[in-house]
Amino acid sequence: MLHERAGKIWIDGRFVESADANIHVLTHTLHYGSGVFEGERAYEGVIFKMQEHHERFHASAAMLGFAIPYSVDEINRATQEVLRINNLKDAYIRPVAWHGSEALSVSTSHNSVHVAIAAWEWGSYFKSDDGQVPGIRLMWSDWVRPAPNMGPVHAKANGQYITGTLGKNKAEKNGYNDALMLDYRGYVAECTGANIFMVKDGVLITPTADCFLNGITRQTIMDIARTMGTTVVEKRIMPDELAQADEVFITGTAVEVQPISEIGTQKFSSGPVTQKIAAAYGKLVRGTAYV
Ligand code: PMP
Repeated sequence: MLHERAGKIWIDGRFVESADANIHVLTHTLHYGSGVFEGERAYEGVIFKMQEHHERFHASAAMLGFAIPYSVDEINRATQEVLRINNLKDAYIRPVAWHGSEALSVSTSHNSVHVAIAAWEWGSYFKSDDGQVPGIRLMWSDWVRPAPNMGPVHAKANGQYITGTLGKNKAEKNGYNDALMLDYRGYVAECTGANIFMVKDGVLITPTADCFLNGITRQTIMDIARTMGTTVVEKRIMPDELAQADEVFITGTAVEVQPISEIGTQKFSSGPVTQKIAAAYGKLVRGTAYV
């Protein structure tokens, strides 16, 4: 159990034992989803894109109308300290900011802001027992990504994850690994915790991130592809076009570069472009040249 793991969690500037890292049941964010968070990975002790994650942490809070009470530099230092104190080298890191329990109304005007940073060892998200990363199966979600005026769609805000949770629960119940969502217009959007790419005739195509999280991994993958001389196109993609893809993969800090073998009734193979990009990403995150 994650909460039973030994180790220390940073909360509001001090370290507490994981077993004592508790908050009150009247915490505003537990009731109204008024928090933001990050998901980061460290490779061989170095946090990949740490600055970008912590800038996004601040930006997400700003989109929800509050300020993280620690600067990006302070969060950088605290995060590195979390790894050091827990003796972690290859880890997943979870900073989270929430509103406290001083008052329980829909507004957060009377609630303090708190920050915690936890980290733990976490291997590949979808890795099988033999260590391979096989293609995974996606189920189309019943839920769609909302329009930008229906929520703070570009924030990594915890309240927004409920449709992801519903979609992924249903997918898992039906033997799939994850759910793929359309957006409010019917275009392909993203998975519950990852962005999506398709390869067609050697060109890398990904949905324009105009109503969902523009993932740090998504941006990194586009940079890698361009550096390797692959044409990258960001555009609106209808499900029919996705069905014609030669290869499909998803990207995210947790999933890294994950080939897709099925979307609903459509089947795909993990082809050469996905493999090349996955290998390059694996090198980049460990600070090794990939071209
Ligand atoms: N979309 C959603 C909904 C996510 O939760 C994530 C994971 N943060 C992503 C996309 C991918 O983002 P990143 O590459 O920054 O991890």
